[in-house]
Amino acid sequence: MRRRYQRFWLIGIILASMSLFGLDSNIRRMKYSSRSEKEAVRWQEDVRGALFGILKMEDLVSTETPLPFEKKELREEKLKSYQQIELEINSTRRRKIPVILTLPNKAGGPFPAVVCIHGHGGTRYSVHDRSSVYKGFAAALAESGFVTVAVDVGQHEIFEKDRTLMGERLWDLMRCVDLLLSLENKVDRERIGCAGLSLGGEMAMWLGAMDSRVSAAVSSGFLTVMDQMEQNHCLCWKFDGLRELVDFADIYSLIAPRPLMCQNGLQEEPKDFYVPIARKAMDEVKVIYEDFNRPQNAFLDVHEGGHEIHLPSLMEFFHKYLTIRNDSMKFVENKEKGFLTVRDGKDDVLTYRFGDQLKEGIDPEQTRSCYIHALYSLDGQVLTDDFPKDHLHHHGVFWTWPIVKTRDQLTQTWHPHSPSLRQYFVRWLKREKKNGTAIISVENVWKLDNREVVAKEIVTLQIHPADNTSRALDLELKIQAVGSSLTLQGTPDQNKGYGGLSIRGAPMFTGASMSTDRGMLEEDSTNVPFYWADLSTKDLGVAIFVSPDHPDFPITWLIRNSYAGFINASWPGLDPSVLEPDESVTLRYRIYVHRGDRTTGKVREAYKQYLSLFPKK
Ligand SMILES: [Zn+2]
Repeated sequence: MRRRYQRFWLIGIILASMSLFGLDSNIRRMKYSSRSEKEAVRWQEDVRGALFGILKMEDLVSTETPLPFEKKELREEKLKSYQQIELEINSTRRRKIPVILTLPNKAGGPFPAVVCIHGHGGTRYSVHDRSSVYKGFAAALAESGFVTVAVDVGQHEIFEKDRTLMGERLWDLMRCVDLLLSLENKVDRERIGCAGLSLGGEMAMWLGAMDSRVSAAVSSGFLTVMDQMEQNHCLCWKFDGLRELVDFADIYSLIAPRPLMCQNGLQEEPKDFYVPIARKAMDEVKVIYEDFNRPQNAFLDVHEGGHEIHLPSLMEFFHKYLTIRNDSMKFVENKEKGFLTVRDGKDDVLTYRFGDQLKEGIDPEQTRSCYIHALYSLDGQVLTDDFPKDHLHHHGVFWTWPIVKTRDQLTQTWHPHSPSLRQYFVRWLKREKKNGTAIISVENVWKLDNREVVAKEIVTLQIHPADNTSRALDLELKIQAVGSSLTLQGTPDQNKGYGGLSIRGAPMFTGASMSTDRGMLEEDSTNVPFYWADLSTKDLGVAIFVSPDHPDFPITWLIRNSYAGFINASWPGLDPSVLEPDESVTLRYRIYVHRGDRTTGKVREAYKQYLSLFPKK
């Protein structure tokens, strides 16, 4: 008895001295630390239970059947692609709240849905305002075929007795989720997300954390630590008992393993939602995602802006995690004819030609394989041409070189030549579906005179799901010299330097507009460096993006619209590239297929988005 008392006394002294040195054990008692997946789930349940307690929401969340909405429609507006409905619903028995709901005009459904949340000084209308820091993300989602809902969370008064401010705000958002779930034919219950900026980013954190019906969350302009929020900020984030339990990273950790994107702008000041602090907080959030074996599901989007929504990555995030059905991609193989078509739902995306191809009536020496034709638009038009009469050696999306030196001989894969050199299919390495994308990977070889292997080629294609505007296809070519060195070079003819990845457009691209990162081209261009090039009619287009890790980046291009469309990312151009035996080179590109011209097709934004996938050096 006496000894136990002594021990408590000792612990008391230790605790007291810890708090003297700032190691207050009464702060963040439930901090997450790495553990097994099963224990992580239990930690989440414990923390949620404790938080609902201090939020004074236990009675609300323990009700079995949701309170009837008693919807009252206040206003309805039919817009071009969606309908905007303002209504009033019951939040609690005593309290009614106004909400803005949008529903896509298009037939079908159920659709994915997003709860859109404003920040301090805003209202439910702010998230629809394109000229604001919210970039009208609710309107952008609504136009893209999402159901959206917005409600006011900016109050600083507590409405009901024995509630908390944060608890009332969160409950109103959970009622928005209830509302979405009640629209059974319109909303897919497996695909509900939430997003917000600033206080809205904080509320997106809370909603994602506390309501597991939310499948994906974007928290913009908020990721930080509580010590930072104690200074220079409205203290409405704080309530009794919170700091004793957790820090923000722990609340975000309740979202795991569901996808979470935080956005913090580089223009944020050190006293605000400063990127270096956000990075540290995200490192803490990552721990539980690692424990769930889904480290890629939590990430920080550091953008160039300030305290604002970064719309391109928000849209990409929700398209990736909410619009995609993981089973929509299919592979349809025709072994006899040597091709494989990738289909997304009912739409053909492209056909990869692995077997020997030859058009009737054409010299057999023109036989080729290992290229893509056709590449399809989002509406099913064929974008490419194969064996066109004007250039029999053009094959859809293809990669060949006008000068190849191997075994001390000069040859090429561009045109038929003597000695001959061309690609042959060896085997499939991958044909799989992953996170809504389709991946194919193929091993090919280059044979000299149809016999001797002089190079090995690994082609990997990742086909991303389409949104309303576009579809991205990532292409990686790895070429390895076999047996002796291999020299690749663009054509020296009139210093054009072309060779490498090319797209031969269908006849519709004759006279199409040609544009690059430096603007529109008035005429055909050769041997000029660009980051990307696009060919567009007024209805559709296709572009090639070059990855920033490409050798000799930025590389030169051949771009033409004179006889049809033709784009070639010319590498290595006029200066030869020599691969020593067994040495390889990896070339990465994104092919971007879009509706509309380069502006409505958002080509420039899409390239910026592509760049953001590569770590900054
Ligand atoms: Zn406040």
